[in-house]
Amino acid sequence: MPDHNDVRPRTAVLTRGFDPSLSVGSARPAVFRSSTYVFASPEEAERAFAITGGRLQPEDGKRPDLIYSRMSHANAEILEDQIVPLEAGAREAAVFNSGMAAIMTAFFTFGRHRGTIVYTTPLYGGTTGLIRQFLEPFGMERIAVPAGDSAALDEAISSARNLCMVLLETPANPTLTMTDIERACERAARHPDRPIVMVDNTFLGPAFQHPLQLGAGLVLYSATKYLSGFSDMLAGVALASDPAVIRMIRSRRSMFGNILQPDECWMLDSRLPTVSLRMNRQSKNAQRLAEALHGHKLLSRVMYPTLFEDPEQIRIYRKQCEYPGAIFSIEFKGGKPAAFDFLRNLRTARNAVSLGGVETLTCHPKSTTHSGMTPEELAESGVTDGLVRVSVGIEDWRDLLADFEQALEAVANASKVESPTV
Ligand SMILES: *Cc1c(COP(=O)(O)O)cnc(C)c1O
Repeated sequence: MPDHNDVRPRTAVLTRGFDPSLSVGSARPAVFRSSTYVFASPEEAERAFAITGGRLQPEDGKRPDLIYSRMSHANAEILEDQIVPLEAGAREAAVFNSGMAAIMTAFFTFGRHRGTIVYTTPLYGGTTGLIRQFLEPFGMERIAVPAGDSAALDEAISSARNLCMVLLETPANPTLTMTDIERACERAARHPDRPIVMVDNTFLGPAFQHPLQLGAGLVLYSATKYLSGFSDMLAGVALASDPAVIRMIRSRRSMFGNILQPDECWMLDSRLPTVSLRMNRQSKNAQRLAEALHGHKLLSRVMYPTLFEDPEQIRIYRKQCEYPGAIFSIEFKGGKPAAFDFLRNLRTARNAVSLGGVETLTCHPKSTTHSGMTPEELAESGVTDGLVRVSVGIEDWRDLLADFEQALEAVANASKVESPTV
């Protein structure tokens, strides 16, 4: 296969990973739905098993022959090769049938009985559930640190015993609070247990934030979001600069049977060349909307990186993010009734969970995505009654702003009816 390591990432995503001569000259990859692969000879079969079992080293840069599709298959290999150049610093990738599958498999690769995981809060609800309802009863210790509290994170990492994993999710959902990735990696590197630092990069990656270049050992994605971008599939990805990390993860994936299926691999690889185009447009739209809504009389806060006021948050944002991204949150002074009235009155933007798609989606985190959190956790992470999260799409931003303004107007009118004295 030709070597395309000499071109830039936006070119490589179109040229790497796929050799048309292996798909009867087809310009786009075929979908290989086969569950099993025919060996050239019994010797090749023996060799493939020896490599997969770790008894034989594959030649540098070469993949072993395919065996059986739960271990790997042609479309997974194409997708994995193609996605690597999008993540700065990555050398290998593994794809999964959801973001949670990627996170779970990483946990079961690097976690161990009586080991400790240090993580920022809030995390994605599914990840929090996995840690609290599964890892902890299973015998792992957990230490949660509020997002953005660098000193507390330093202390948690330094003092943890049997530390095997540090998981950062930055910016945090839905408040956009940022955690300093490089600082956490430096701390972790000084710990005698040499824990792996994992970053859930779903919100800003792969376009705007590059954790592997800041020292992280593993980057995780829900590819259900920006990577696929059309709210029509589930997928997950793990990427690392050390190929051994991905080899270990792939071997767990073979046991768990959670590899992404061929059709989904084919769909996702067709979306990759437009990830940075979509994310750039979405980020520009979001910045225009967030800045236009900032200071609105019905809102107590607009949470967005270009509107940060805390100097430490501004410093982290400038240091580790290229653009502010396409998610912002607004907080209504009128609490839950105002937030619900707003969601009820939007016409262009839809009320749905999830994010990262080309269409604008809005939700009320406290009663939906974050409803599993305790009152203390909600308060600590700033998920209030009046908070609405917005994932901005690629629509014309002027239509979105008009939609938001008419919905805000409706909220203002509703509150006048409810309290005629005001
Ligand atoms: C959606 C999401 C996940 C889970 O991904 P799925 O594809 O739904 O399994 C994990 N982390 C973050 C930050 C997410 O937004």
